[in-house]
Amino acid sequence: MNRQTDPRPPEETTVTEAPQQSSPAGGSTATPVELTVRPKPGQLTFTAPRRGKPPKHLADFDLAGRREFLAQLGHKPFRAGQLSRHYFDRLASAPEDMTDLPAAGREELVAQALPTLLTSVRTLEADQGATLKSVHRLFDGAMVESVLMRYTNRVTMCISSQAGCGMNCPFCATGQAGLTRNLSTAEMVEQVVQGARLLRGGKVGRAEQEPLRVSNIVFMGMGEALANYKATLGAVHRLIDPSPEGLGISARGITMSTVGLVPGIRKFTREKLPVTLALSLHAPDDELRDDLIPINTRWKVDEALDAAREYYDVTGRRVSIEYALIRDINDQGWRADLLGEKLNARGAGWVHVNPIPLNPTPGSKWTASRPGVEQNFVERLRAHGIPTTVRDTRGSDIDGACGQLAAVV
Ligand code: SF4
Repeated sequence: MNRQTDPRPPEETTVTEAPQQSSPAGGSTATPVELTVRPKPGQLTFTAPRRGKPPKHLADFDLAGRREFLAQLGHKPFRAGQLSRHYFDRLASAPEDMTDLPAAGREELVAQALPTLLTSVRTLEADQGATLKSVHRLFDGAMVESVLMRYTNRVTMCISSQAGCGMNCPFCATGQAGLTRNLSTAEMVEQVVQGARLLRGGKVGRAEQEPLRVSNIVFMGMGEALANYKATLGAVHRLIDPSPEGLGISARGITMSTVGLVPGIRKFTREKLPVTLALSLHAPDDELRDDLIPINTRWKVDEALDAAREYYDVTGRRVSIEYALIRDINDQGWRADLLGEKLNARGAGWVHVNPIPLNPTPGSKWTASRPGVEQNFVERLRAHGIPTTVRDTRGSDIDGACGQLAAVV
């Protein structure tokens, strides 16, 4: 799900470009990524093109798997616990900070267990430094982004689960560019660890503010997380498992976003994790949703809503319905009524709706609804008794939805 990614830098933005790493010959050290094939309209891509895999990293495994991983590398399995404390608890990355590891061979051990997965190439800063959007280059040259937002009492990070996206929503630049590849578990976790390091270093927000910990994670960056199920589930566990197994973030602070991959929602339901599910619906009727959200040609509105309701039944977590309001496309009052009716048909108290004014891509025909139209849409939903909160689209707002257009990286 691509939520926040208005390709324009937010207002009052500072852009920091990291210098390109150069090889001795003067070229980039990153392997140039193969060009991803742009999908035809409506074409869905479930399988990422074959590519090399990123190096294995401690965060790819649970604690038992880490012991095995280290043993395979020829190290003592108990080093897994030491390295886990450094990585998940102290957020350390430099071998010299890991003095409980033997000096001889320490660098090699750290390089093997904690290889560099993301290189930050650009940082956009907004809201007086309280919002940071980072563009990362992966080992193969693919680019992804993450966004960190600091609020008074919490910090939310929006992370990417795929490079590109195979869901091909026509209003989303990420989808238009196609799917490059799935991210590994550790590539997702590392986005959060890098954000946590910035926070701890006092690099986010005003100087006098206390450092905070990352408290909320939304899988609403690039990609459909449930289409990369195994790696995404691994990342959820690394985020919520207590230290040193993971980062110890509350599961209630995690939001899993999906465009309506019904088998993925059902599978995720069976994990019985108290994680919030956000369903990017964007239309209550199949006729429009088939065009707007191509996955709807496989799993219809009613099937997606039934799966969302089952998610609530099993987890007790109220589901978010994300609805990007697009001018003259999906913002008619009758569609608000239909949405209200369909949600109420599945019971009360299980859901709330977040309408989000669309952030247009320059040159795109898709644009935000007029304010009066947006207000009418919200009032009609509320008249059906549906809790409804409009999300604003300032650079610092991230709690909304999929489909807020892609990162241009
Ligand atoms: S809107 Fe979300 S699901 Fe659709 S193409 Fe964009 S990132 Fe993928």
